[in-house]
Amino acid sequence: MALRILRHKCQPFVRYNSSSAAPTTKLFINGQFVESKTKEWIDLHNPATNEVVTRVPKATQDEMNAAVESAKAAFKSWSQTSILGRQQVMFRYQSIIKDNMKELAKNITTEQGKTLADAEGDVLRGLQVVEHCCSITSLQLGETLSGIAKDMDTISYRLPLGVTAGITPFNFPAMIPLWMFPMAIVCGNTYVIKPSERDPGACMMLVEMLKEAGCPNGVVNVIHGAHEAVNFVCDHPDIKAISFVGSDQAGKYIYERGSKNGKRVQSNMGAKNHGVVMADANKENTLNQLVGAAFGAAGQRCMALSTAVFVGEAKNWLPDLVERAKKLKVSAGHVPGTDLGPVISPQAKERICSLVESGIKEGAKCVLDGRGLVVPGFEKGNFVGPTILTDVTPNMQCYKEEIFGPVLITLTVDTLDDAIKLINSNPYGNGTAIFTTNGATARKFTHEIDVGQVGVNVPIPVPLPMFSFTGTRGSFLGDAHFYGKQGINFYTQIKTVTQLWKEQDVDHVKASVAMPVMR
Ligand code: NAD
Repeated sequence: MALRILRHKCQPFVRYNSSSAAPTTKLFINGQFVESKTKEWIDLHNPATNEVVTRVPKATQDEMNAAVESAKAAFKSWSQTSILGRQQVMFRYQSIIKDNMKELAKNITTEQGKTLADAEGDVLRGLQVVEHCCSITSLQLGETLSGIAKDMDTISYRLPLGVTAGITPFNFPAMIPLWMFPMAIVCGNTYVIKPSERDPGACMMLVEMLKEAGCPNGVVNVIHGAHEAVNFVCDHPDIKAISFVGSDQAGKYIYERGSKNGKRVQSNMGAKNHGVVMADANKENTLNQLVGAAFGAAGQRCMALSTAVFVGEAKNWLPDLVERAKKLKVSAGHVPGTDLGPVISPQAKERICSLVESGIKEGAKCVLDGRGLVVPGFEKGNFVGPTILTDVTPNMQCYKEEIFGPVLITLTVDTLDDAIKLINSNPYGNGTAIFTTNGATARKFTHEIDVGQVGVNVPIPVPLPMFSFTGTRGSFLGDAHFYGKQGINFYTQIKTVTQLWKEQDVDHVKASVAMPVMR
């Protein structure tokens, strides 16, 4: 059943003539949608048209404090709600999100730009985390050991931390908030989330659905803003843990500032994911996978396969790769048949184009150039067509930096060992993939590669939520990863109880002062 009223549904594809005519995005505090009293607003533009869609407030200190106060007050009762009660909220939430998937997708396409099909995928991958949360009665089990000494047992409980918080990026406006607050609250925590100021609409719809699912007021709160809101989250003494997903610069900053303030922080950051192509691979499948994973979502995925490494004779496939990429249709995300939509902002477009230019200046060849593309009907949109650079070398800027756009850079090496060495020398460790039909080659690669998420003939190997999202090295800071068992670890603390129950007290003549060894 679709929600009767989605108060935060942006009219998809509506154009507003001036920023003052655009509706405002509300805060969500103590279960109510609240108009911010701030004087500072951020205009949010539809990336396909650059028309203003909504105005996002930079919440005031008072408003942000109210959000934490509300979460703190709600923690008292929410943490005491039975685990079955919390599970029931997740069951209902799962069903409501499913029923409203298309509405969520429309909002994502309007605010973020990706195609409707891709936006539904964004929601679905988040929904899978909610489904995982429905197993909380198993996931949050503690441990017991009876008879650790005579008449003595130890029990460990997994307990919530208190008020927890999340800071999200623009590229998955539904999935990444759903990596965060469902896991936290199902464990008994309460939450303050600061979604990306560039596309908070999906998060607003998701909290409305959570309310509809019966989640009590104050359990999840939403604040908006940029750096000041981030600093507030890092510094507030009542916030016990922070989940962050976004760029390296922000991720390192938040990890350091939050940790210094004694908080747990998990920080998922940037990437440079290499796809290794062996000459024995299935050519048709491999080229399709490469094109899909490099250009899907206009390359704005942290697991985009943005760097192809052709081993030996596989380099002869390059012309076919270019032909396939040329066939992709670039247009606004809601236009039927679109393969890739715009990038998030004019600034992002400029940065992408300048990294391509730097590659050309440093000796790479641009065999497919999507810069300067104009999409009829969407002339003001931030479009970049599929772009392929060949003859890239590791010293080039376009190799060293995450481009985060529809640009595939390609390198050639002689052997699998060379490919492994190249990837292991790159500072990032988010994802990688190998394309081969040889089991021994695949095994060598998976064992020797120092990257957290590895695909064998799978270009975007993001694990389902019963596992965890395990980017490593430069792509991650922290101890416990997102979702899966590690997500439960992140959002819980352990309490152990050791108890002695004797049927009959044995008289001791004297108190023992030696260290109890419990034998
Ligand atoms: P971003 O870092 O610009 O923004 C993320 C969040 O941090 C936003 O809420 C923003 O308000 C805040 N922020 C931005 N700059 C900040 C700063 N200097 N100090 C403090 N806070 C700041 O990231 P983005 O552009 O929205 O997202 C794209 C990046 O996210 C890419 O690098 C991508 O690889 C990464 N990403 C990583 C993963 C992953 O799981 N590893 C997943 C998705 C995206």
